[in-house]
Amino acid sequence: MSKRKVVLVTGSTSGIGLGIAKEFALNGYDIGLNGLGDAAVVEAIKRDIEVNFGAQVFYSDADMAKPNEIERFVKGANDALGAIDVLINNAGVQHVSPVEHFPTDKWDLILAVNLSSAFHMSRLLIPSMRSHNFGRILNIASAHGLVASVNKSAYVAAKHGLIGFTKAVALEVADSGVTCNAICPGWVETPLVSSQVDALSVEKSISKEDVIRDVILARQPTQKFVQIDQIAALALFLASDKASSITGSSYSIDGGWTAH
Ligand code: NAD
Repeated sequence: MSKRKVVLVTGSTSGIGLGIAKEFALNGYDIGLNGLGDAAVVEAIKRDIEVNFGAQVFYSDADMAKPNEIERFVKGANDALGAIDVLINNAGVQHVSPVEHFPTDKWDLILAVNLSSAFHMSRLLIPSMRSHNFGRILNIASAHGLVASVNKSAYVAAKHGLIGFTKAVALEVADSGVTCNAICPGWVETPLVSSQVDALSVEKSISKEDVIRDVILARQPTQKFVQIDQIAALALFLASDKASSITGSSYSIDGGWTAH
C-alpha cells in the first residue's frame, strides 16, 4: 500500500486550521496538528480526527512565535509521519489598536506568528519537498493581505508581507514541482473574530448582532460569513496534482469584500 500523503497545518486546534485538517484527513491525508489550547481539549480533537477519518495524527504544542519550537514541530512530524507533502501556514493572532498606542510586544508577536512562522516552516520543509519533486505550500493570509483597515497595522503588515513571501517562494521553487500560494479569506466566524465582536459591542454600546450586521458584514457584499468548509475545499484543490500550474497566486474568498 502506498504511503498516505502528509499535511502539516499550523494553528490547527481551532477555527479555519482545524477545518482544513479535518478536510484533508477526510481525503486521505495524515495530519501534523499544531496549536495552543487545553491539553484535554486538544487530545479530544486529535482522537476525533483519528477515529472519524482514519488518519494518523501527530500533535505538537510548538509555539509558532519561537523558531526553535518550530524546528521541534517539523522534526517530530517527520519522525512520526514521514516526508511532508503539504504545508499550510495558518497560525494567526490579532490585536486591535491605533498605531501610536500599539503595544510593541503585540506587534512583535503578530509579526512572528502570522509572518515569520511561515518563513521558518517553509525553509525547513522545502529541501525535502524539492528532493521529492513535489510539494504544496499554502499560506492563509486574509483580505487584510490586500487591503487595510484602521487599528490593525500589525495584522495588515504581516498579511501583506505573507503575500509577498508567497510570491518570492513560488519563484524560487518553480522548477521543482513545489508550488506556493495564498488564500485570502474575508470574515469567518471563529474565536479570532468573536473576540473582536465582543470588544466592538462594548466599545460601541450596541448588541453583538448589530456589530455583526453593521460593522463586520457591512464589508462583505454577500452579507454572510465565509464558511470554514469553503476555505478547506479551496485548500484541498490547491494541494492537488491538478493545481500544479497555480503558483505565486493569492485567492480571495471574501464574499466580494476586496471587489470594492
Ligand atoms: P482561531 O483563533 O480560531 O485559530 C488560530 C489558531 O492558531 C489556533 O489553533 C491557535 O491555537 C493557533 N495559534 C495562535 N497563536 C499560536 C502560536 N503562538 N503558536 C501556535 N499556534 C498558535 O483563528 P482563525 O480565525 O481560525 O484564524 C486562522 C487563520 O486565518 C489566521 O492566520 C487568521 O489570520 C486567518 N484569517 C482569519 C479570518 C477570520 O475572519 N476568522 C479571516 C482572514 C484570515
